[in-house]
Amino acid sequence: MARSRRKLQQFWADFRAFALKGNVIDLAIAVVIGGAFGRIISSLVEDLLMPLLNPLIPGGNWREMTVASGIKIGSFLGSLLDFFIVALSLFVILKLLLPLLPKTPPPAEQRQCPYCLETVPLAATRCRACTAELPPS
Ligand SMILES: [Zn+2]
Repeated sequence: MARSRRKLQQFWADFRAFALKGNVIDLAIAVVIGGAFGRIISSLVEDLLMPLLNPLIPGGNWREMTVASGIKIGSFLGSLLDFFIVALSLFVILKLLLPLLPKTPPPAEQRQCPYCLETVPLAATRCRACTAELPPS
């Protein structure tokens, strides 16, 4: 009885650690923002671009276009156009935002332990793998 209660407590502790990890919250935010961004792009295409383009296309609303027995070619082409616009928008946004982000520091310089050939930081005085004292670099 006490063991199963301990297992349950461990399960909830693990679950809390998993659910409150920064990565999970970041991912949830990304999914929500991504969904909202997708709706903005769909609205841009359907409500702003297509009313301008529809008069140029024979047959009116091309997203409703079908060929043969009900193959919805218009809907498929519309999805392709949506994807192209989403990808283009993301590319432009990333091009504008990436230079503004702080630069990540370059990785610390490393050297090889002469005894065990493990890589250690350049400033290390003792190998972390074989614990041999290292000559100053
Ligand atoms: Zn070593």
